[in-house]
Amino acid sequence: MDIPARFEEIRDRMDQALDRAGRDTASVKLVAVTKTRSVEEMSQAVEAGATDVGENKIQEAEAKKPAFDAPVRWHLVGHLQKNKAKKAVEIIDVIHSVDSAAIGQRIDRLAAEQDKVQSVLVQVDLAGEETKHGLPEDQLLPTLEQLDKCSHLSVDGLMVLPPFFDDAEEVRPYFRRLRELSSEGQQRGLLGSELSMGMSHDFEVAIEEGATLVRVGTALFGPRAAKASGTEQVVR
Ligand SMILES: *Cc1c(COP(=O)(O)O)cnc(C)c1O
Repeated sequence: MDIPARFEEIRDRMDQALDRAGRDTASVKLVAVTKTRSVEEMSQAVEAGATDVGENKIQEAEAKKPAFDAPVRWHLVGHLQKNKAKKAVEIIDVIHSVDSAAIGQRIDRLAAEQDKVQSVLVQVDLAGEETKHGLPEDQLLPTLEQLDKCSHLSVDGLMVLPPFFDDAEEVRPYFRRLRELSSEGQQRGLLGSELSMGMSHDFEVAIEEGATLVRVGTALFGPRAAKASGTEQVVR
């Protein structure tokens, strides 16, 4: 299957999941995760209908952006290092990975300098995984309260990168928990309604649980090969 055919298939599966959940077709967006993909592959995805692209490294977004002139929204889905925040504010539309008040406040300052209101999501670590980025659940509300004072941040929602399970059903509780946290934040007026959750192998479950942004890479572009090694090693 080529990229347009895979795009169609994913869109169909998204629509079916929306249907099962009684949700409107327009209520979820596919973010085509383009890390390691060429500008040519990205263009094919856009021709097929992708309106949003996601990178996990600022350097890669920065390298591709001049060569890729399609009018898409750029998402940063990977961890943001402090020293990359300025570039992120310059080139990224939605930063999914704010995981501390400090990084949020830094983005706010940089956005003020650039006369921009930066759209961000707060990444929550629901599994307490040492190796992963994300704000511990019990720090979410206090952090949102601090970010609420940042006039050049638009805190539009939450993001989660849950542990990987072979059976996508096992991820469902994480998605459900993120939605509960989101409702709490929204009720307090601290948060917008975006929920960035679900990847290639679990986006349908995520949509059933309320995802508004699904981040899909391999299901759209095929497996990622590690460039340095000659083997068919897949980068997760
Ligand atoms: C790579 C990546 C994705 C996409 O993963 P696939 O399994 O290829 O769909 C989604 N979110 C983040 C944060 C990623 O780094």
